[in-house]
Amino acid sequence: MNLVIFGPPGAGKGTQSNFIVSKFKLYQLSTGELLRNEIKNKTELGQKIAFLMNSGNLVSDEIVSNLIEKYISDKNYNNRLIFDGYPRNLNQAKNLQTMLKNSGKKIDLALKLNVSLETIKIRISQRKSEEERSDDREEIAIKRYGTYEKNIIPVINFYKQSNLLKVINGERSVSEISTEISGLIESI
Ligand code: AMP
Repeated sequence: MNLVIFGPPGAGKGTQSNFIVSKFKLYQLSTGELLRNEIKNKTELGQKIAFLMNSGNLVSDEIVSNLIEKYISDKNYNNRLIFDGYPRNLNQAKNLQTMLKNSGKKIDLALKLNVSLETIKIRISQRKSEEERSDDREEIAIKRYGTYEKNIIPVINFYKQSNLLKVINGERSVSEISTEISGLIESI
Protein backbone atom coordinates (compact mmCIF):
# COMPACT_ATOMS: atom_id res chain seq x y z
CA MET A 1 0.00 0.00 0.00
CA ASN A 2 1.31 3.46 -0.95
CA LEU A 3 -0.39 6.66 0.12
CA VAL A 4 -0.30 10.31 -0.81
CA ILE A 5 -1.18 12.94 1.79
CA PHE A 6 -1.61 16.54 0.80
CA GLY A 7 -2.93 19.81 2.15
CA PRO A 8 -1.68 23.36 2.61
CA PRO A 9 1.33 24.06 4.84
CA GLY A 10 0.21 23.66 8.45
CA ALA A 11 -2.68 21.35 7.55
CA GLY A 12 -1.30 18.57 9.74
CA LYS A 13 0.25 16.38 7.01
CA GLY A 14 3.34 15.74 9.14
CA THR A 15 1.39 14.93 12.30
CA GLN A 16 -0.99 12.56 10.52
CA SER A 17 1.86 10.94 8.57
CA ASN A 18 3.62 10.20 11.88
CA PHE A 19 0.44 8.58 13.14
CA ILE A 20 0.06 6.44 9.98
CA VAL A 21 3.74 5.46 10.15
CA SER A 22 3.44 4.12 13.66
CA LYS A 23 0.04 2.45 13.28
CA PHE A 24 0.46 0.89 9.83
CA LYS A 25 4.25 0.47 9.72
CA LEU A 26 4.73 2.62 6.65
CA TYR A 27 7.63 4.97 5.81
CA GLN A 28 7.09 8.70 5.51
CA LEU A 29 8.72 10.42 2.58
CA SER A 30 8.43 14.17 3.11
CA THR A 31 9.89 16.14 0.22
CA GLY A 32 9.89 19.29 2.40
CA GLU A 33 11.96 17.44 5.00
CA LEU A 34 14.37 16.03 2.41
CA LEU A 35 14.83 19.53 0.96
CA ARG A 36 15.30 21.15 4.40
CA ASN A 37 18.00 18.55 5.14
CA GLU A 38 19.85 19.59 1.99
CA ILE A 39 19.83 23.19 3.21
CA LYS A 40 20.83 22.21 6.76
CA ASN A 41 23.73 20.10 5.46
CA LYS A 42 24.81 22.95 3.17
CA THR A 43 24.97 20.69 0.12
CA GLU A 44 25.31 22.11 -3.37
CA LEU A 45 21.62 21.43 -3.93
CA GLY A 46 20.78 23.03 -0.57
CA GLN A 47 22.50 26.25 -1.54
CA LYS A 48 20.65 26.29 -4.85
CA ILE A 49 17.17 25.86 -3.35
CA ALA A 50 17.44 27.88 -0.12
CA PHE A 51 16.21 31.13 -1.60
CA LEU A 52 13.24 29.52 -3.40
CA MET A 53 12.13 27.61 -0.31
CA ASN A 54 12.57 30.52 2.06
CA SER A 55 10.44 32.73 -0.16
CA GLY A 56 7.55 30.23 -0.30
CA ASN A 57 8.04 28.98 -3.86
CA LEU A 58 8.25 25.41 -5.10
CA VAL A 59 11.55 23.92 -6.17
CA SER A 60 11.71 22.31 -9.61
CA ASP A 61 9.89 19.07 -10.41
CA GLU A 62 13.15 17.53 -11.53
CA ILE A 63 14.86 18.14 -8.19
CA VAL A 64 12.07 16.52 -6.18
CA SER A 65 11.76 13.57 -8.62
CA ASN A 66 15.48 12.90 -8.26
CA LEU A 67 15.21 13.03 -4.47
CA ILE A 68 12.40 10.50 -4.16
CA GLU A 69 13.20 8.13 -7.01
CA LYS A 70 15.68 6.06 -5.04
CA TYR A 71 13.16 5.44 -2.26
CA ILE A 72 10.57 4.15 -4.72
CA SER A 73 12.91 1.54 -6.16
CA ASP A 74 14.43 0.66 -2.74
CA LYS A 75 13.18 -2.77 -1.62
CA ASN A 76 13.26 -1.67 2.04
CA TYR A 77 10.31 0.62 1.38
CA ASN A 78 8.53 -1.77 -0.96
CA ASN A 79 4.90 -0.67 -1.26
CA ARG A 80 5.00 0.97 2.16
CA LEU A 81 5.44 4.66 1.40
CA ILE A 82 3.50 7.74 2.44
CA PHE A 83 4.28 10.65 0.17
CA ASP A 84 3.97 13.77 2.31
CA GLY A 85 3.97 17.06 0.39
CA TYR A 86 4.39 15.31 -2.95
CA PRO A 87 2.95 15.60 -5.58
CA ARG A 88 2.37 19.37 -5.46
CA ASN A 89 1.35 19.86 -9.11
CA LEU A 90 -0.01 17.80 -12.00
CA ASN A 91 3.38 17.14 -13.55
CA GLN A 92 4.62 15.69 -10.25
CA ALA A 93 1.49 13.52 -9.95
CA LYS A 94 2.20 12.10 -13.40
CA ASN A 95 5.92 11.66 -12.63
CA LEU A 96 5.04 9.80 -9.44
CA GLN A 97 2.67 7.51 -11.31
CA THR A 98 5.36 6.74 -13.88
CA MET A 99 8.10 6.13 -11.28
CA LEU A 100 5.81 3.77 -9.34
CA LYS A 101 4.66 1.99 -12.49
CA ASN A 102 8.27 1.39 -13.52
CA SER A 103 8.70 -0.55 -10.25
CA GLY A 104 5.35 -2.35 -10.64
CA LYS A 105 3.68 -0.21 -7.94
CA LYS A 106 0.87 2.31 -7.57
CA ILE A 107 -0.86 4.77 -5.24
CA ASP A 108 -3.73 3.17 -3.31
CA LEU A 109 -5.16 6.19 -1.51
CA ALA A 110 -4.85 9.98 -1.77
CA LEU A 111 -5.76 11.88 1.42
CA LYS A 112 -6.51 15.58 1.13
CA LEU A 113 -6.56 17.60 4.35
CA ASN A 114 -8.77 20.67 4.07
CA VAL A 115 -7.93 23.65 6.30
CA SER A 116 -8.79 27.35 5.99
CA LEU A 117 -6.18 30.08 5.68
CA GLU A 118 -7.23 31.50 9.09
CA THR A 119 -6.48 28.21 10.85
CA ILE A 120 -3.21 27.88 8.95
CA LYS A 121 -2.04 31.30 10.19
CA ILE A 122 -2.70 30.30 13.81
CA ARG A 123 -1.01 26.90 13.49
CA ILE A 124 2.02 28.24 11.68
CA SER A 125 2.66 30.95 14.25
CA GLN A 126 2.60 28.22 16.94
CA ARG A 127 4.90 25.97 14.90
CA LYS A 128 7.35 28.80 14.26
CA SER A 129 8.06 29.11 17.97
CA GLU A 130 8.51 25.33 18.28
CA GLU A 131 10.45 24.41 15.14
CA GLU A 132 12.21 27.58 13.97
CA ARG A 133 11.43 27.09 10.29
CA SER A 134 12.61 30.04 8.24
CA ASP A 135 9.64 29.73 5.86
CA ASP A 136 7.10 30.01 8.70
CA ARG A 137 6.94 33.83 8.81
CA GLU A 138 3.31 34.89 8.36
CA GLU A 139 3.71 36.56 4.97
CA ILE A 140 5.70 33.58 3.67
CA ALA A 141 3.09 31.20 5.09
CA ILE A 142 0.39 33.09 3.18
CA LYS A 143 2.51 32.92 0.03
CA ARG A 144 2.98 29.14 0.52
CA TYR A 145 -0.77 28.72 0.95
CA GLY A 146 -1.31 30.61 -2.33
CA THR A 147 1.32 28.49 -4.12
CA TYR A 148 -0.37 25.35 -2.83
CA GLU A 149 -3.86 26.44 -3.91
CA LYS A 150 -2.71 27.52 -7.35
CA ASN A 151 -1.11 24.20 -8.23
CA ILE A 152 -3.14 21.61 -6.40
CA ILE A 153 -6.48 21.66 -8.29
CA PRO A 154 -5.29 19.49 -11.20
CA VAL A 155 -3.72 17.09 -8.67
CA ILE A 156 -7.08 16.78 -6.90
CA ASN A 157 -8.79 16.07 -10.23
CA PHE A 158 -6.09 13.55 -11.15
CA TYR A 159 -6.76 11.44 -8.04
CA LYS A 160 -10.52 12.02 -8.20
CA GLN A 161 -10.62 10.56 -11.71
CA SER A 162 -8.86 7.43 -10.50
CA ASN A 163 -11.27 7.16 -7.56
CA LEU A 164 -8.44 7.40 -5.05
CA LEU A 165 -9.25 10.77 -3.47
CA LYS A 166 -10.60 11.11 0.07
CA VAL A 167 -11.21 14.63 1.38
CA ILE A 168 -10.78 15.09 5.13
CA ASN A 169 -11.90 17.99 7.28
CA GLY A 170 -8.59 19.05 8.82
CA GLU A 171 -10.13 21.61 11.19
CA ARG A 172 -10.98 18.94 13.78
CA SER A 173 -8.81 17.57 16.59
CA VAL A 174 -5.73 15.51 15.72
CA SER A 175 -7.32 12.36 17.16
CA GLU A 176 -10.61 12.78 15.28
CA ILE A 177 -8.69 13.13 12.02
CA SER A 178 -6.46 10.14 12.84
CA THR A 179 -9.54 8.00 13.52
CA GLU A 180 -11.04 8.89 10.16
CA ILE A 181 -7.76 8.22 8.34
CA SER A 182 -7.39 4.87 10.11
CA GLY A 183 -10.81 3.79 8.90
CA LEU A 184 -10.02 4.82 5.35
CA ILE A 185 -6.74 2.89 5.31
CA GLU A 186 -8.31 -0.18 6.85
CA SER A 187 -10.99 -0.19 4.16
CA ILE A 188 -8.47 -0.42 1.29
P1 AMP B 1 6.50 21.35 3.22
O1 AMP B 1 7.38 20.89 4.33
O2 AMP B 1 5.80 20.21 2.52
O3 AMP B 1 5.55 22.44 3.65
O4 AMP B 1 7.47 22.00 2.12
C1 AMP B 1 8.28 23.12 2.43
C2 AMP B 1 8.82 23.73 1.14
O5 AMP B 1 9.62 22.76 0.43
C3 AMP B 1 7.78 24.16 0.12
O6 AMP B 1 7.28 25.46 0.38
C4 AMP B 1 8.58 24.10 -1.19
O7 AMP B 1 9.46 25.21 -1.30
C5 AMP B 1 9.44 22.87 -0.97
N1 AMP B 1 8.76 21.64 -1.43
C6 AMP B 1 8.32 20.60 -0.66
N2 AMP B 1 7.75 19.64 -1.40
C7 AMP B 1 7.84 20.06 -2.68
C8 AMP B 1 7.40 19.52 -3.91
N3 AMP B 1 6.75 18.35 -3.97
N4 AMP B 1 7.65 20.24 -5.03
C9 AMP B 1 8.30 21.43 -5.00
N5 AMP B 1 8.71 22.00 -3.87
C10 AMP B 1 8.49 21.35 -2.71
